[in-house]
Amino acid sequence: MRKKLFMVLSVVMTCALFAPGAHAKRVFVTIGTGGITGVYYPTGGAIAKMVNKKKKEYGIRATVESTGGSVFNVNAVMNGDLEFGIVQSDRQYQAVNGLAEWKDKGPQKDLRAVFSIHPESVTLIAAVDSGIKSIQDVRGKRINIGNPGSGQRQNAIDAFEAVGIDYKKDLKAESIKASEAAGLLQDGRIDAFFYTVGHPNGSVKEATSGARKVRIVDITGVDNLLARYPYYAKAIIPISNYPGAQNEKDVQTFGVKATFVTSAKVPDDVVYAITKEVFDNLDDFKKLHPAYATLTRENMLQGLSAPIHPGALKYYREVGLMK
Ligand code: GLU
Repeated sequence: MRKKLFMVLSVVMTCALFAPGAHAKRVFVTIGTGGITGVYYPTGGAIAKMVNKKKKEYGIRATVESTGGSVFNVNAVMNGDLEFGIVQSDRQYQAVNGLAEWKDKGPQKDLRAVFSIHPESVTLIAAVDSGIKSIQDVRGKRINIGNPGSGQRQNAIDAFEAVGIDYKKDLKAESIKASEAAGLLQDGRIDAFFYTVGHPNGSVKEATSGARKVRIVDITGVDNLLARYPYYAKAIIPISNYPGAQNEKDVQTFGVKATFVTSAKVPDDVVYAITKEVFDNLDDFKKLHPAYATLTRENMLQGLSAPIHPGALKYYREVGLMK
């Protein structure tokens, strides 16, 4: 009996390995995202869906992991725990150049860009009863600036610095994951939280639809920041996304882009297949989340500072997007 089972198994395995036309083996890749109420998580799902549709052709099986965000994703891609990650464009720049969280570790030489995705805004969500109407009003308040693996943490610190606030002394800074922040705001445990994220998203919807009244705060007066760092640009959050928010006008702030990254160690054919599926089917991809509304094949090549992975470059050259 056991012998028979062994024989059946070895026949099956041999077929899988040597069947003509089929891939010798299936490649499993994992995409690092963010909290499940953000936009990275559904974005990882959207990318995985595009490539998994063709699993017979490519032999690739992509799965998604919820993580602490950009900084975690860069580090996990660099140490080989993840093959792909979604990472803010500013964090990609800092990782490649050995800045911010990578100051001690140095430049992340193996980091490779694949494409950029939706715009993300540095978003400050505050309880109306906290009295926070501008970034200056955070003094003395309990503010979640984000967990250490997140992208928003350094954005909050940069914004404070631009307006002369020392987050270690002038406020009570919390380091909680974005997925928990909306609940804590509603429960009265924090006064406000930062989230660098695409819109609309589940976290800001949750924060603005509870019993505690909430507004999204303008982050202005940070022109020195925008002048100093090439990766920051002015951004507007359309308030129509959040009918429950106590705002009268669209929100003015600054932002970055979400980008898709990998490691130089990930094989060219895997990166090529994912790039091709997303770009060849961009209209279908864009239907998967409203944050993708402004995506074009051309602007998906902007905001990248790491070298483009050769697998992606092969595709961009084939279709004439790059030389
Ligand atoms: N930008 C956030 C980060 O890097 C994640 C946003 C999201 O999950 O959509 O941590």
